[in-house]
Amino acid sequence: MWCNVESIKEFINAEKPSDYYERLLAELSALNREYHPFNLINEGLGKHGAFPFSTKANICVKGFETTAGSKMLKDYIPPFNATAVERMFGAGHFTFMGETNMDEFGFGTFGLNTETPARNAFDSDFVAGGSSSGAAVATATLKYHVAIAESTGGSIATPAALNGVVGFTPTYGAVSRYGLIDYANSLDKIGVMSRSSADSRLVFDVIRGIDKYDTTCSAAEITCSGRSTLFTVKELMEHTDPAIKSEFGRLLDKLGRDYEIREISVEALSKAIEPYYIIAMAEASTNLAKYNGYKYGFQYPETNLKYNDFFTEARSEFGMEAKRRIILGTFIRSESVKEKYYTKALSVRGMIIREMSKVLRDGYIISPALPIPTPKVSEAERLSPTQNYAMDIFTIPPNLGGFPHITFPYGKKSGMPIGAQLITSQFNDYSLFEFVEKWEEGFSMQYRHNLGSI
Ligand code: GLN
Repeated sequence: MWCNVESIKEFINAEKPSDYYERLLAELSALNREYHPFNLINEGLGKHGAFPFSTKANICVKGFETTAGSKMLKDYIPPFNATAVERMFGAGHFTFMGETNMDEFGFGTFGLNTETPARNAFDSDFVAGGSSSGAAVATATLKYHVAIAESTGGSIATPAALNGVVGFTPTYGAVSRYGLIDYANSLDKIGVMSRSSADSRLVFDVIRGIDKYDTTCSAAEITCSGRSTLFTVKELMEHTDPAIKSEFGRLLDKLGRDYEIREISVEALSKAIEPYYIIAMAEASTNLAKYNGYKYGFQYPETNLKYNDFFTEARSEFGMEAKRRIILGTFIRSESVKEKYYTKALSVRGMIIREMSKVLRDGYIISPALPIPTPKVSEAERLSPTQNYAMDIFTIPPNLGGFPHITFPYGKKSGMPIGAQLITSQFNDYSLFEFVEKWEEGFSMQYRHNLGSI
C-alpha cells in the first residue's frame, strides 16, 4: 500500500541487512543502464546508515562533479554544498545517493535536451518529463528514496506527474537557492519529489527557512489554510486533449464529494507562456554569459585564437536548446527591443500574479499537469520548440507567480500514470500536503519497480 506511508520514518526505524547499501548500489547501476536516472552515483552511499536522497544535477554537492547536465560544466567539482544539501546532511538521517539526470541547465519539458535522456519508469519508450527527469524516474523506481529537484517553469510538476510520484514546488523564497546553478533567478525554486506527500513535507521542513546566503529567502510563516473550493480555469482546459480531459473529469467527480468544484474564466492565464519564455530566456542568457571557456565553464584548450573565434569555439559546447535560449535571450534584452518584449513581459507577469492571488484567496486552482497523454520519445522529438513550450500551459502560471503547487498521481491512461496539479496562495504550502494526504487515503499507485526494498 503506497498511501499514507511515511517511508522515511518507516525506513529509519526498520532493521536492514548489513550489506543493504552494497546491494542497493548494484541495483542502481542496473537501473541506470536501462533508465538513466543518474548522472552520478555516490559509491560511498550509506556510510551513515541513513535514508537515501538524490539531488538534481544543478544543485551543488561538495566534492561531486555537478554539471547541470551541460558539457560546459564538465569537471566542475563544487567546493561547497548548496544550503538545501547542507541541511539534509545536518538533519543526521539522510545519505547522499547521487545526482539526477536533467535537461541541460533546466531547459526542457521532456528530459530530452541532454546527452543520455532518462526514460519513463513505467515504459522506457516514453519520455520521463523534464527538466528534472532523473529525479522523477529515481523516485518512481526506488522504494526508499527522496529527490531534491528544482523548478523554473514546471520542472518538478511535469516529470513527477509523468512518473506517478508526488512533486512539490514550494513558494518562491521558501527554500534557499544558494548553491543552485541558476537558470532564471526570479523563477527558480528548489523542491521535492517523493512517493508520498508526507515524505515531501518532511524534507521541505528540513530544507526550508531563511539563509544568510540568499537574500530572496523569506522568513514568512508557512501556513496550512485549507480551502473548500477547487477552481478549474476555462481558458486552460480548452487546450487539453480530450483523453486527458475525460480522465480529469473523473477525478473532479471524486473530489466533488469533499470540495465545491467551480469553473472560472481567468483570461490572463491564457497569456502566461509568452512572458514566461521571454523572462526565462532573458535571465538564462545573462546567467550563461559567464560560461565562456576561459574563466568559468569548461576550459577551452586552444588559446591561440582571435577573440571572437575563441569564444565561438568554446561556446559551441552548449547544446542546441541552450544556444537557442542564449541567442533569443540576448536579443530580448537588447536596447532596441527591450521595451517591446522584456518590459511588456514583466507587466503581463504582474497582471497574472494579481489575478491568481485574487482567485487563490477563495480556493485552490486544480488542473491536469500536462495537456496531453505522455508522449513517446519519438513523438516528443518531432515537436517544434514552440510546440514544446506550449506543453507548459498548466505549470507556468504558478511558477511565474511563485505560488506553491503540488502534483499527485490520480490514475493511468494506457498504462502510463497521469497527474493533477494543485495550486495555492504564497506561503500556504502546508495546505497542499494536507490535501494530497487526504487524497492518498483512497488511492494507491502500482510501480513497476520497487528497488531498494531489500
Ligand atoms: N519547460 C520549462 C522550460 O524549459 C520549464 C523548465 C524548468 O522548470 N526548469 O523553461
